[in-house]
Amino acid sequence: MKKKFDPATSLQKLEQFGEFGGVNPSITDSATFTFMSEEEMIKTFHGEAAGCFLYSRHWNPSNRYLSEALAAMEGTEMAWVTGSGMAAITTTLLQLCNSGDHIVTSITTYGGTYAFLANYLKKFNIEVTFVNISDIDSVKKAMRPNTKVLYTETMTNPMLQISNIPELAKITKKHGSAKLVVDNTFTPMIFSPYLLGADIVVYSMTKFINGKNDAVAGAICGSNEFIDSISNVNDGSAMLLGPVLDPLRSSSILKNMATLHIRMQKHSENAMYLARKFKKIGLKHLYPGLPDHPDHHLMKKLMNKDFGFGGMIAIDLETAERAAPFMEIMQKKGVGYHAVSLGYFKTLFSNSGKSTSSEVPEEIQREIGLSPGLVRFSVGLDHDIERSYKLIEDTLKELNYI
Ligand code: PLP
Repeated sequence: MKKKFDPATSLQKLEQFGEFGGVNPSITDSATFTFMSEEEMIKTFHGEAAGCFLYSRHWNPSNRYLSEALAAMEGTEMAWVTGSGMAAITTTLLQLCNSGDHIVTSITTYGGTYAFLANYLKKFNIEVTFVNISDIDSVKKAMRPNTKVLYTETMTNPMLQISNIPELAKITKKHGSAKLVVDNTFTPMIFSPYLLGADIVVYSMTKFINGKNDAVAGAICGSNEFIDSISNVNDGSAMLLGPVLDPLRSSSILKNMATLHIRMQKHSENAMYLARKFKKIGLKHLYPGLPDHPDHHLMKKLMNKDFGFGGMIAIDLETAERAAPFMEIMQKKGVGYHAVSLGYFKTLFSNSGKSTSSEVPEEIQREIGLSPGLVRFSVGLDHDIERSYKLIEDTLKELNYI
């Protein structure tokens, strides 16, 4: 039997030495690069001098090391690193779409992505159709001759739906000119969307990949052809919009990636512990790792097995008024931080409808089933998760919620 792709081992096999033999590659702290000959410089500007660097907005050796690591993890030919997750998303979409084109997207995505698709793209006369990504027929029906992108998140924010990437890929392959773009921010290593059929995988590296909450960063992973197209000096969105990641940050993120597989396992283990406890006490919950989640079986079928079901979990307290004191007291008790974002070593929690999905109008929140009392947790790396659960349980009791 053919061995399944292992993103952690693929990453570990990569050997990247510094120029003086350092076990970490040297940091190239330069915005521009010298050339020994004019001919070489001209060739580089025409994209004909492999291995030469011309200017750090285009490419930088430190960014290349991190890009190679991301490509190894994703099974893509190449990657390109950006100054934020939003930069990765917008750079990708603006490269793939021209004025008059059309995008089909999951209606549940990160709020910033939703706002870019629903509001900002109007400036470019790019139309967007929002669909329930789990309803494959509605996705098929939404595709038009001018559709250039089918967009989704592997595990959607904040509803934790799982996208059926192989089925979505069949739709884009059949369509011909549409690319399947997948945001895998919630589930690095757990899913390998490119190997499941996506054309381009984007990340907010601000989250699990970096894992330290000390940087905002993003990544675009795909074919050499696509990465070359975004970095083209004449019409590449990465080169011309300038969203490049600073090489000092690339270097620190690269080192943090080496522990990603262990962190993902621990985030998943702790989230599973909490999910089981929430189920046991009868609290309304969302966690794809439990058989009561509608996409549990789909996730089991598509995931890489060694990293668990992820660190994201949500509970429904029904109203924002009930969610607010719950989060404030949890923070006081030391469960974690009442903060947006995810993938940190401390547990983070926020009311999605009032924070990271506040860009989604309330009637659409209702339509997609986003409860006003939905508290999303990014479960941390707590050594003693039993203690953390007890603090949550104490909070629920103090408020007479259980
Ligand atoms: N994609 C997802 C799924 C997110 O949750 C976020 C931010 O929360 C982003 C993209 C945007 O990333 P960044 O904040 O790094 O721009």
